[in-house]
Amino acid sequence: MSSLPTAKDPFIDPCDPELRSWVASARDASNDFPIQNLPYGLLNGCVAVRIGDSALVLEEALEQGVFCAEIAEIPDLDSMLSLACLNAFAELPNQTLTRIRMHLAWLFAEGSPARKQIEPLLHDAVNTYDVPFYVGDYTDFYASLHHATNVGSMFRPTNPLLPNWKHLPIGYHGRASSIIVSGSEVRRPHGQTVSNDDGPPSFGAVKLMDYELEVGFFVGKGNELGSTIPITQAWSHIFGFVLVNDWSARDIQKWEYQPLGPFLAKNFATSVSPWVVTREALEPFCVQGPPRSADDPQTLPYLTDPQGMNIDITLEVFISSAIMREKNIEPTLISRGSFKDMFWTPAQMLAHHASNGCNMQVGDLLASGTVSSTTKDSRGCLLERTWRGSEPITLGDGTERKFLNDGDEVIMRGFCTKPGYPRIGFGECRGIVLPAR
Ligand code: MN
Repeated sequence: MSSLPTAKDPFIDPCDPELRSWVASARDASNDFPIQNLPYGLLNGCVAVRIGDSALVLEEALEQGVFCAEIAEIPDLDSMLSLACLNAFAELPNQTLTRIRMHLAWLFAEGSPARKQIEPLLHDAVNTYDVPFYVGDYTDFYASLHHATNVGSMFRPTNPLLPNWKHLPIGYHGRASSIIVSGSEVRRPHGQTVSNDDGPPSFGAVKLMDYELEVGFFVGKGNELGSTIPITQAWSHIFGFVLVNDWSARDIQKWEYQPLGPFLAKNFATSVSPWVVTREALEPFCVQGPPRSADDPQTLPYLTDPQGMNIDITLEVFISSAIMREKNIEPTLISRGSFKDMFWTPAQMLAHHASNGCNMQVGDLLASGTVSSTTKDSRGCLLERTWRGSEPITLGDGTERKFLNDGDEVIMRGFCTKPGYPRIGFGECRGIVLPAR
């Protein structure tokens, strides 16, 4: 058991699995936000840290004098915390962020002398509807071998993986302006679609509306234009991770994607979960990526990560139809997989992105691409899960789905577990499909 917190040294390692919080909900084994997690987000537009079902607005805590001198005296902390985004905060040096995290752990630790001061400042964390960063740029990758192979074999049966795939993390530049937070509704888009491969197209509400289960990360430290982020340093440039739903219109995608990749099939909405789980909170769950097979090409040196770290995050997708919500039927589990099965790691995606001198900036969102594992029930989008609609799934209300109907709510959950360690979760990334206008 860790020793009781004292005011003399107000810092505790939050990754100590024995550490417990005086916040009761944070001690619940099924809660995503124990004291070991401490993710950051925006509560009513203010920078906040989450613990259990509660959140502490950091600016309020600073104003009320609850932080120790070392933290309170961080230059410009008050102005960083007064912004309605995490960007300036995330640019603090990593060692400073570590000290803040350790101080927060001390504030929330069972027996902390700060409890009396903090407890009245806690807010209910249920309604936190804001994208946590100001996102200047968004890039989406295609880093799951199983997803790329499955989708490739549908569209190009003889040639599922293109020759470049195992040499570099494939990605495309997404759209930052349509990134929305979990809980926001998503309007079914209109677009050009074809019934024959060669056209002619018609324009109307899309029919093949889909989700993509992804993990995204926000850049905390960028690089100057013309410089790079070496693979060995890439991990330290990452601030933290969220769940991402890359909403996709498959019928638009099929017609438009060649030769330049996704465009209007993807950029009408991308949902993110509201709490950013820090790199440090996830480090206890870092694992080696899947071994390369004997005939896989050697990774080029600039992409060779000596640590080769993936993160073991269990990822689930549920669907709840409008009828199911009305009748109080539990959402239906559609898939469960793990982020640890990704072929390309977050560090490789970031190092590759900057390898040509492209300047990454704080708040940039990089998403992994659909996370699919080896088994059928781990496939992270309906296109794969129903094999292009040929194997429909049945929901809890008895109706079948090939793709999403209006009124369907997609619910993504992510969490890390291992024996002897509290569950570190992401909460949820939700969105309801509204009918086309
Ligand atoms: Mn995607």
